[in-house]
Amino acid sequence: MSNQIQPVRGMNDVLAGDIAVWQFVERAATELLTAYGYEEMRVPVLEQTQLFKRAIGEFTDVVEKEMYTFTDTGGDSLTLRPEATAGMVRAAISNGLLRGARLKVWCIGPMFRHEKPQKGRYRQFHQVDVEAIGFAGPDVDIELIALTARLWRKLGVGRVKLQINSLGTVESRRAYRELLQEYFRAHRGELDVDSLRRLEGNPLRILDSKNADMQALIAAAPLLTEHLDAESAEHFAALRAGLDALAIPYAVNPRLVRGLDYYSRTVFEWTTDALGSQDAVCSGGRYDGLISQLGGDATPAIGFAMGVERVVELVRQVGTASAARPPDIYVIAQGDVALRAALVAAEQLREALPQRVVHVNLGGGNFKAQFRRADKSGASFALVIGDEEIARGMASWKALRGESPQRQLDLNDLPAQVEAAVRDQSAALTN
Ligand code: ATP
Ligand code: MG
Repeated sequence: MSNQIQPVRGMNDVLAGDIAVWQFVERAATELLTAYGYEEMRVPVLEQTQLFKRAIGEFTDVVEKEMYTFTDTGGDSLTLRPEATAGMVRAAISNGLLRGARLKVWCIGPMFRHEKPQKGRYRQFHQVDVEAIGFAGPDVDIELIALTARLWRKLGVGRVKLQINSLGTVESRRAYRELLQEYFRAHRGELDVDSLRRLEGNPLRILDSKNADMQALIAAAPLLTEHLDAESAEHFAALRAGLDALAIPYAVNPRLVRGLDYYSRTVFEWTTDALGSQDAVCSGGRYDGLISQLGGDATPAIGFAMGVERVVELVRQVGTASAARPPDIYVIAQGDVALRAALVAAEQLREALPQRVVHVNLGGGNFKAQFRRADKSGASFALVIGDEEIARGMASWKALRGESPQRQLDLNDLPAQVEAAVRDQSAALTN
């Protein structure tokens, strides 16, 4: 077995047995986003490295240590996207979609970060990413958070809590940044290596540190909320009033700064106590400065990303997704002539009854073996075609669950007779 090729560490296969939950989550998100007026957009997984450096910020964990960056054969530095907002905004600019327009768009797909793999933290993971571009808020901030709250209800997920904060404008952050720098400089001896590097480059990033030894120092640092500019304070008050009006519970967390540099004013995060230490399931915020930073006209915007793997795990725990659908009809045939007739019959059924799941026994086997497979597939009914039946222009119909008597169906009127048999016998089963 030593010559087996191993999967890439931290990158998972989603197997057929797990797909029902994934599809349930994806379908719920698609339906909800459509209902709120968002349209899907698809953007590349690879972008110029410079895009992420400029958008996310040089002094972030993502850019400093987590990006999959390589030089392609043409000599360009490319990076597998670690998040979707930068690419979505780049696409809006590249395609001339902004120009005063308003855009409500979303995407879903894999993101890549070279992190330490553990439960709930992978190197390839998936996000549902939602962006409202051209809206200054706070109305859109409130609606976007309401959308996420409704998504949890639709998924049947209960153990999630909302935290919000305001980061102010770039200008109010500058004044706060100096305060923070002063504070951390006074405690230089207590800073870890990462924080020392960030002290001069971007001291706000120190607040985002996950190092347990740093937490007491961070807890005593000056609060950004106390240094908000008047307009941001007003925006934040309106956000809170809106959430109150919608009866969406939240906690104000003045330490919530988020891991990417482009945020301003509103930031929010949904966390759960059901997944252990990887507790963030959905996070986002306003990024009013990002679009001009990437070369577009200054445009306010807000967005969020939901971690699909973590939400799939929450849904699995509560069991709201239905299991994969077993076949309605399993077609059994023995003999060359019968097999051909079975394939024809199955196509007729798929054409006339597209809502029915029809499996044909593939790979031969005697009747006994085929019935065993039919049973294992979880099918409700077997349609049996043998040379003897064909000679009479008939097929046998057998309920695989319950006690209904076997029937003979006319091959020339198959779909109608099958539908009638399914209806009668399903009714008999549930009575
Ligand atoms: P965390 O604090 O868990 O590292 P983050 O702040 O880096 O999360 P974002 O960049 O805001 O996360 O991404 C949005 C969501 O994507 C997160 O809330 C989380 O659910 C999910 N996510 C982020 N990184 C990973 C990962 N490596 N594996 C699985 N899901 C992830
Ligand atoms: Mg992270």
